[in-house]
Amino acid sequence: MAVALIPAAGSGERLGAGRPKALVELGGRPLIAWSLDVLSRVPAIEKIVVALPAHALELPWTPQGAPDVATVPGGATRSESVRSALAAAGEAETVLVHDAARPLLRTQLVEDTLGALAQEGADGAIAAARVTDTVKEAGEDGTVVRTLARSALWAVQTPQVFRRSALEEALNVPDEVLAQATDDAWLLERAGYRVVVVEAPRENIKVTSALDLAVAEALLERRPA
Ligand code: C5P
Repeated sequence: MAVALIPAAGSGERLGAGRPKALVELGGRPLIAWSLDVLSRVPAIEKIVVALPAHALELPWTPQGAPDVATVPGGATRSESVRSALAAAGEAETVLVHDAARPLLRTQLVEDTLGALAQEGADGAIAAARVTDTVKEAGEDGTVVRTLARSALWAVQTPQVFRRSALEEALNVPDEVLAQATDDAWLLERAGYRVVVVEAPRENIKVTSALDLAVAEALLERRPA
């Protein structure tokens, strides 16, 4: 069985909504409601732990027929929020991490990442979409340093699924290292663990700016009922 951790303690500053991002409205519901509902429908998930801002610890949405749902105060960085949520995760051997900022999650992707972890003998399995833009590295002055081979590039999303012992060891690092992590898988990679990508739909976007929120609204409207 698995536990799902939802980091949702971000301030939402870049969205400019004047309230925590997880509480911003999308399609008539708080952003976090979308991920909560999807994760609560996956039979393999027995518990959900949500990291919320310390001043807004009450969950704004209770999913129907949900497994056990707990909240914890988040930390100063995303990885610290994940570490706090993991400490309240109970006994599960498999840990799924999904950002509240990705409300367009579908149950199929949750099943696919959980399935990949079980089948591939890996320590982590992460949702990712093939990159369609050409990606270049540039220096401080804007001069291009190199062009990366696009066929090998993946834009990484959540959910990210891990063997619990591997994630626990990877998170057991100083806060300065945690602060550098833009996803959880990087912490496992640097600890020498094997992580595999699971192809995911590009629609599973992250809501960071007001533009992303508008795109998410449009994608929701296009969804088959
Ligand atoms: O800031 P960013 O968009 O990368 O955040 C990704 C996810 O991490 C969001 O769901 C956000 O709420 C969460 N987060 C958190 N604690 C923080 C910062 C971000 O739980 N200190």
